[in-house]
Amino acid sequence: MQQIWPKAISADFSGKEGQSVLYYSSNDFDEDSKEPTTPQRILWMGLGKEAKLSLNSFRTAIPKVVDKVQELKQKEIVISLDAQQFSTLNSSLSAETLLQTMANTFIQSNYQFNKHLTKEDSKKPSIEELRFTLKQTSGPLDLQKINEAVQVATTFGEATNLARNLANERGDVCNPKWMEEKAKELVSNHRDKLQMQVIDSNQMNLLGMNLFYSVGKASTTPPRLVLLKYMGDPQNPTSEVALVGKGITFDTGGLNLKSTGFIEDMYLDMSGSAAVLATMATLPKLNLKMNVVGALCMAENAIGSNALLPNSILKSYKGLTVEIGNTDAEGRLVLADGLSYVQKHYSPKYVIDIATLTGACCVALGEYASGLFTNDQGLEKKLMEAADSTFERTWPLPLFPEYSAELKGQHSDLKSIGKGRYGGACTAAAFLKEFIEEGVKWAHLDIAGPAMTSEKRGHIPRGGTGYGVQLLLSFLQSLQEPSQQPKT
Ligand SMILES: [Zn+2]
Repeated sequence: MQQIWPKAISADFSGKEGQSVLYYSSNDFDEDSKEPTTPQRILWMGLGKEAKLSLNSFRTAIPKVVDKVQELKQKEIVISLDAQQFSTLNSSLSAETLLQTMANTFIQSNYQFNKHLTKEDSKKPSIEELRFTLKQTSGPLDLQKINEAVQVATTFGEATNLARNLANERGDVCNPKWMEEKAKELVSNHRDKLQMQVIDSNQMNLLGMNLFYSVGKASTTPPRLVLLKYMGDPQNPTSEVALVGKGITFDTGGLNLKSTGFIEDMYLDMSGSAAVLATMATLPKLNLKMNVVGALCMAENAIGSNALLPNSILKSYKGLTVEIGNTDAEGRLVLADGLSYVQKHYSPKYVIDIATLTGACCVALGEYASGLFTNDQGLEKKLMEAADSTFERTWPLPLFPEYSAELKGQHSDLKSIGKGRYGGACTAAAFLKEFIEEGVKWAHLDIAGPAMTSEKRGHIPRGGTGYGVQLLLSFLQSLQEPSQQPKT
């Protein structure tokens, strides 16, 4: 194809971030009409000032390219890249990292939840293929390494989209049983590496998982703890990591019923469990040599004559008694018993829970980052690095003893909520901390902000965002790299 750069375009296009120009080019012209026979659409996309060029410049540009190409109803994109030029401007922009970021952002940007759209013209045309052509004038280009990196980036992007599909399904369909079925389906694709076990509501009662059971007992679909075990290191009897996800398939608030304006999006209150399930389903593809347990704490917080009563005192699976301050603070109850269960039965070194836990965390950080609470600095560093590299931001918040002091009960060992209006994300985290055993490295990710968005933002769609999947996958990967092993 003839590369042309007409002067008229130079005048209109300065390369400013987000600026684009489209033109048509062809080598072949019809003899008679002089019209191009196979016109190529060439889209130039501005990346902004050279001095500010970073991976984020590409992360911002790709969704704009996808929007434009979808608008043109084209099925294919070829991205031409002068890798040499970019790595000269910023040494962190190697061909490998650039392609990785672009492929991952492309997969996420091309996502749409359209299964309930019955009219074809309401759906955006999906782009079926992305190809890269690379130019590098000097130095070796390790194509095998680049291909592998792009493959992993694609797998990560697809994992996020899987979590989005789970989260976006509404609560009338996506109930605890549906999530169990989805887990079964995903496990059946990897029977050699994944095992599944379910603690149903009867077993919960027998085991004394009263906090968990009580949250879901008023629903017509009983609660359940869905356990997935990835065995990447079958000779090793222990599990390195346990991931525990909050899975409230609809949160009415319980008898402390939510009001209009606060209840509608509550089908997304299972986003933590969606992130854990998508992570577990992806591990066999990454072939990590470690054992990981994923626990989906599934319940519907419904109302009914047998719903959990405010100020009930319940005995947890761990044995601590808890006074229920507000039935809308239900996530911490299912997590408390879920956390106790995985620690008792799998003895993991690391435990990470991920939950749309508190509105207070949204007040603190908005939709742009999750709150990170942890009892281990090394773990904090690893999660921060994983968040940074995947653009799934997280930010540390404190676990001061004063938060724990607020939870001391008069008629029970613990109260489920703090004293006043303030610091709700921190008192929730302090509550969970009571269920973490000595010596366990634990982190709690409060994803109430970034798990759901009110409007499309770049590669992040409106609704369920799939937040946390790539952060968790990247964290698990980092445990494999010797240079990043924690000092013991
Ligand atoms: Zn709630």
